[in-house]
Amino acid sequence: MMNSAQVLSDLAVGLATGSIEVVDLSVTLSPETPVIQLPDIFAQSPGVSFEPISEYDPAGGNTWYWRTIRMGEHTGTHFDAPVHWATGKDYASNATDTIDPQRLVGPACVIDKSADAAANTDTLLTVDDVLAWEAQHGQIPKGAWVLMRTDWSKRTAAVDFLNDSHTPGPDSAVMRFLIAERDIQGFGVETVGTDAGQAAGFDVPFPCHTLMHGANKFGLASLANLDRLPATGAILVAAPLKLKNGSGSPLRVVALVPR
Ligand code: MN
Repeated sequence: MMNSAQVLSDLAVGLATGSIEVVDLSVTLSPETPVIQLPDIFAQSPGVSFEPISEYDPAGGNTWYWRTIRMGEHTGTHFDAPVHWATGKDYASNATDTIDPQRLVGPACVIDKSADAAANTDTLLTVDDVLAWEAQHGQIPKGAWVLMRTDWSKRTAAVDFLNDSHTPGPDSAVMRFLIAERDIQGFGVETVGTDAGQAAGFDVPFPCHTLMHGANKFGLASLANLDRLPATGAILVAAPLKLKNGSGSPLRVVALVPR
């Protein structure tokens, strides 16, 4: 039987000594942060803007600095809640303020598709990819965060990052598999959204959004530093802002990694 108090005590020692490393999986939010571009018939999400409230000037008693922030809920490294999609809108506790926090921390399984993505920007994660990964690393546990590594976050220019909607993502069969056969907590990617750039035309359009949220599960987009994670063994912490009825939110995603 696991001694939970001992586990947390060991964790504290690991953090203090650096034998457990905290890896930042987030990008910086700024006016330059790329935002998904939708076809003209749809409303667009605004990028980030900062407006000063005071900056050590008389408006702030010559002492304090703070700003007002404005951005869409799905900007930069961000969390997708089930309520984001029509298929997930009727679940209880499906928004950023009502999700059970127990669900926001879990093991990370990192599937490396970076070589395929370098060769083909429209590369898709498939069931075969997952089975090949499992043959090497063991079965994906229930409640895991499955992260698709593509090294896409290394594309620092917005035009290369958005790539005219030719970006990698999951196919619909792998989404069905990870939901029904593995009961994962959510799916994370390095690209601007959890679905592939061409996913509007898939047999299930936008399968991560349609199927994952339809199963009351989560998404994480615009992750970085997935190349610093082991295939298994890291713990992911992904807690969105507690926005009332939030469809998602920017967040700081960190991973606890054994060194
Ligand atoms: Mn999103």
